[in-house]
Amino acid sequence: MKTGGFSMSSVKQKQSKGKVADAVATGTVYLLHFSEAYHHARHYIGSVEEAAHLDVRIEQHRNGRGARLCAVVVAEGVELQLVRTWPGDRKVERHLKNKKNAPKLCPICRENQERAGHRKR
Ligand SMILES: [Zn+2]
Repeated sequence: MKTGGFSMSSVKQKQSKGKVADAVATGTVYLLHFSEAYHHARHYIGSVEEAAHLDVRIEQHRNGRGARLCAVVVAEGVELQLVRTWPGDRKVERHLKNKKNAPKLCPICRENQERAGHRKR
């Protein structure tokens, strides 16, 4: 029998009512593709706590009220395109960032690479 160490204290109780089953994985991780590269940056990976907040967050990025990087590139006239989302939270976000292969995750960049690269016939 193992009992020690288990606790429910990590469950946030900011919502008094709500289905317990929905408490997991309501967040969304998103990938923004920049219409033009800004220095070495061409993508931004971020996350929202609830999928319903995604639209608002993207709007904030486009208005320069989101992440610093996005504000800077928008000021340069670069467009932010939402190209991909994953269900998940900051842990997933960090995991994806650590892989440092956003171009491989990005459908736009993958397509461009395939067009430019493998032209065997
Ligand atoms: Zn891309």
